[in-house]
Amino acid sequence: MNPLGQNRGAYHGERTEIAALLREIRRVAPSAGWREEVLLPGTDREIVCFTRSHRVRSIREPVRLYVSAGMHGDEPAGPAALMRMFRLDLWPDTADLWVCPCLNPSGCAQTTRENDAGVDLNRDYRDPVTAEVRAHIEWLSRQPSFHGVVCLHEDWESGGFYCYELNPPGSETVAEAVVEAVREVCPIENAEVIDGRPATAPGIIRPNLDPASRPEWPEAFWMWHRSQGRSLTLEAPSDFPLPVRVQALVTATCKALERWSA
Ligand SMILES: [Zn+2]
Repeated sequence: MNPLGQNRGAYHGERTEIAALLREIRRVAPSAGWREEVLLPGTDREIVCFTRSHRVRSIREPVRLYVSAGMHGDEPAGPAALMRMFRLDLWPDTADLWVCPCLNPSGCAQTTRENDAGVDLNRDYRDPVTAEVRAHIEWLSRQPSFHGVVCLHEDWESGGFYCYELNPPGSETVAEAVVEAVREVCPIENAEVIDGRPATAPGIIRPNLDPASRPEWPEAFWMWHRSQGRSLTLEAPSDFPLPVRVQALVTATCKALERWSA
């Protein structure tokens, strides 16, 4: 499987209709036990958040897992992957779940990385100025801390799938299992330096954990700063066909949630 070669200088792949996609998620979610909360209601930046309690009791306390997508509007595979997970109900039964399928509605509507005011929301989590990130953080602050976090993204320059993993010292890593599962779906990025950072294993970056070392925080850093839980940021290679990237993100997300809730 080879890249399409169409992402010259920016993402030039398929577009999705984000409003229709969110309507579909809101249509199917209630019957599977999800509750929704709308942030910034009545604006063109409405963020819909879904929560579901565990449906099956395991021996231990249910783990609390969080998944988000649609932070960058030119990365349509993330929201599409979550729509498939809602449609097919691919979520673990033993976990308590929090899901935000589209954190940047205005950017997703116009297929731009930034929101419609030109701000990269995934650099606004340290001292937030945007309405979207402020509302998201206010909502997150009302939820318990999470044991595991998965953020779905795409990289238009990448030749294969890769991920960032933040892990508390001594805790089990899931990144290798995720990469091995995705290898069945699409190529894995095997460069030694990915997105300017050294890979610690094929397709895996474990970044510097000191948030103070970064002036601009992505969502994953806010999560880390709050609870030091495990987090994975998934990057699908967006120069491959959309169905391949969607399947890569579904496979990776399911593998991580399955491992964390086992
Ligand atoms: Zn992204």
